[in-house]
Amino acid sequence: MTAPLRVGGLTIDVLTEIAHRYMPVSFLFNDLPEPDIARNMSWLGPRFIEPRARTLGLAFQAYILRAGGLTILVDSCNGEGKHRPTAPWQHDLRATDFLSNLARLGLRCEDIDIVVCTHLHCDHVGWHTRLRGGRWEPTFPRARHLFGRREFDHFRLRYEREGAAAVSHGAFADSVLPVVEAGLAEFVDEDHRLLADDTGEIALVPAPGHSLGHCCVRLRAGGTEAIVAGDALHHPIQLDLPDLPMRADHDSGLAVATRRSLLAHCADTGAWLCAGHIPDWSIAQVRRFEDRFRMG
Ligand SMILES: [Zn+2]
Repeated sequence: MTAPLRVGGLTIDVLTEIAHRYMPVSFLFNDLPEPDIARNMSWLGPRFIEPRARTLGLAFQAYILRAGGLTILVDSCNGEGKHRPTAPWQHDLRATDFLSNLARLGLRCEDIDIVVCTHLHCDHVGWHTRLRGGRWEPTFPRARHLFGRREFDHFRLRYEREGAAAVSHGAFADSVLPVVEAGLAEFVDEDHRLLADDTGEIALVPAPGHSLGHCCVRLRAGGTEAIVAGDALHHPIQLDLPDLPMRADHDSGLAVATRRSLLAHCADTGAWLCAGHIPDWSIAQVRRFEDRFRMG
C-alpha cells in the first residue's frame, strides 16, 4: 500500500480497486502517434506504455481522506457484478481488492461519513452500491453522498430521455439512483466546502471538460495542498501531451484547459496531485520539463 500523505492534520490514503491493468490506447485516446510513444518510452515504458501491443497501464483507485474525525471517500471505482454490456472491461467484475483494501486501511463500510464523486462516469460511482438480495443497495449505509447538482441534473435528464443503459453504461441507474432513493444523496455546488475548521479545508473545485460538472477535490492545511484530480488526467503521457484529448471528454477543449491549469498549478506551487487512474504515482508531484510536465 502507498503510504498516506499528510496535509497538515489531514491524511490521504489511496484505496485501490485495480492496481494495474493494460488497456488498449483506444480506450483513452483516438490517436497516439508513434513518435509521441517513442519520445516517452524512457520514462513511461513498459509499465505505463507497452509499445508492441499499443497498450497503456492504468489503475482504478479511490482516495480516503481523514480529517478531524471525518472519513471521506472520493470516487468509488467500478464496483462488482455490474451489468455493462457496452463496457466489456467493466462488465460483471468479481473479486476486486476494493473492500479488502478498505479493511486494510482500518475501515468498515459503516465508517464512511461522506462519499463524494468527481463526476458520474461508471468507473467513479461503482461501489456506491452493491447487490443485496437482488437489489442494488448503498454500500456505505451511513454516508452522505454528495453529487454536483449540475452534473446530476445533466445525467438525470439523459436518463429520462435515453433510458438506463445509455447513461454511464447503466451506472446512473444501478449505482447513483439507489443512493438517491435511499435518502442518502445531497446535491451541492461545484465549489462546495466539505470541511473548513482548524484542521484545514476540503472543498470541491470546478474542473469541467471531461464531464459537464466535473470537479476536483482540494485539501489545504498547514501550508500544504493536495488535489484529487478525478479524470482531469488519465495517464502520465498527458504530462508530455497536455493537449491530448480523452476520447470520452464531454468538451475536449475545456478538458485540455482544465488539465493545463491543474498541471501548471501543481508544478508551480508544489501541490500534490492525486490521479486515481495512474498506477504507482497515485500521489505524486509534478514538475515542469521544457514546455511540458513530468511526474514520478
Ligand atoms: Zn475515470
